[in-house]
Amino acid sequence: MTLQERDYEVIWHPFTHQKNRKPPIPIVKGLGTLLFDEQGNEYIDAISSWWVTIHGHANKYIAERLYQQALTLEQVIFAGFTHEPAVALAERLLPILPNNFSRIFYSDNGSTSTEVAIKMALQYWWNNSTSTVDSLPLTVDGFKRSTESGKRKTILAFKDAYHGDTFGAMSVSDRSVFTLAFHDKLFEVLFIDTPNETNIEGLKTIIDREGDNIAAFIYEPLVQGAGGMRMYKAQWMDELLKTVKVYDIICIADEVMTGFGRTGRLFASEYMTNKPDIICLSKGLTGGTMALGVTACTDRIYQAYLGDDKMKTFFHGHSFTANPLACTAALASLDLLLKEECLDKIKWISEENKSFANRLMPYALRLTPNKIKNMRTLGTIIAFEIDKGKDEYLNDIATTITQKAFGQGVYLRPLGNTVYIMPPYCITKEELAKVYETIMMVIK
Ligand SMILES: *Cc1c(COP(=O)(O)O)cnc(C)c1O
Repeated sequence: MTLQERDYEVIWHPFTHQKNRKPPIPIVKGLGTLLFDEQGNEYIDAISSWWVTIHGHANKYIAERLYQQALTLEQVIFAGFTHEPAVALAERLLPILPNNFSRIFYSDNGSTSTEVAIKMALQYWWNNSTSTVDSLPLTVDGFKRSTESGKRKTILAFKDAYHGDTFGAMSVSDRSVFTLAFHDKLFEVLFIDTPNETNIEGLKTIIDREGDNIAAFIYEPLVQGAGGMRMYKAQWMDELLKTVKVYDIICIADEVMTGFGRTGRLFASEYMTNKPDIICLSKGLTGGTMALGVTACTDRIYQAYLGDDKMKTFFHGHSFTANPLACTAALASLDLLLKEECLDKIKWISEENKSFANRLMPYALRLTPNKIKNMRTLGTIIAFEIDKGKDEYLNDIATTITQKAFGQGVYLRPLGNTVYIMPPYCITKEELAKVYETIMMVIK
């Protein structure tokens, strides 16, 4: 049996309608920006394998560091134990993160990093509102238990947000086809539009009205990824954050996608003067080689967990918390990312994207009037919509584009009718030119 046939018998793929599914493409090898199939055909991975592979596939340096670590210590329980890669990674991350963060909490992936952030923020208010456990009424089963989850209950989030697929993360994500089956199980969230010059005053009015009830504000800074690569301006976000901060609301920047150079700076939060209290990282953190999540918090948050009261412990953890291999991959990835060569490369891709955007729009309009719209770029990301059918994730045009581009040796995976590229930083001049050419061809 072929790999495809064996897959068909036993595998359930993510985000994939299983009935009439197309056989998945077996990939046997990766190298740099390239993926190789069983026939030896190569494809440029223009979306960094779901936005994670920042240094390309099968990176030798990261692989060697992983190998050495695997021979030394592959995993150890992280409650009551510690190890060099976890501590070294925290020591390296804290000085480069976009605020004075004081603690690193490890988990497994992007969804768990936002899940941790939401729990951390809610329990911050609970810890601060409940003076001691002894002051709580005794319940019938003899436990001291708070009936309240802190006096601030509301979480603020953006429409079209995506923060992951676990229940807390789904709750703070926009209600969409992704969450349709679970709406009655998701907690209530106050959703607002992303800020712009026309709605900013209205948004500030909402914050002024609800501010004292809002525990936390979770946002994807400047680019809403899975929601369709929607971009909004730093200037208006900064205004919104300023108002949010007047009410002491805990600001959670979900930089799972935007982190590690994607937007042209190390972190998208650097574009704003108002900084987050909590930041969530994953995806590019390990260079896309291992699953790892980081939730970093400022000392203000951490202090709320330092009382004598054991009930105020943050009771959260995962079997693979701070896995030594994953932490080692992250350390190696940071070595590569912070090299001048790589930072220059990010700048170069950003410039190339801008000039391609300027070229593509007039070209497309000549060929197919009004068939593409909303051309936008930020750092290494470029996106636009094909003006055909509805602007939504289920738009069938995505499959057509993927197939057409694949025939040219470029892997694209539009979000509905939103076409975007987000290449590994190691992409060469020729490869990037080929990706652009392919996009022009597909539009034609
Ligand atoms: C991908 C993503 C997540 C979820 O990360 P997973 O590792 O897929 O669970 C959360 N937030 C943002 C902004 C993302 O892009």
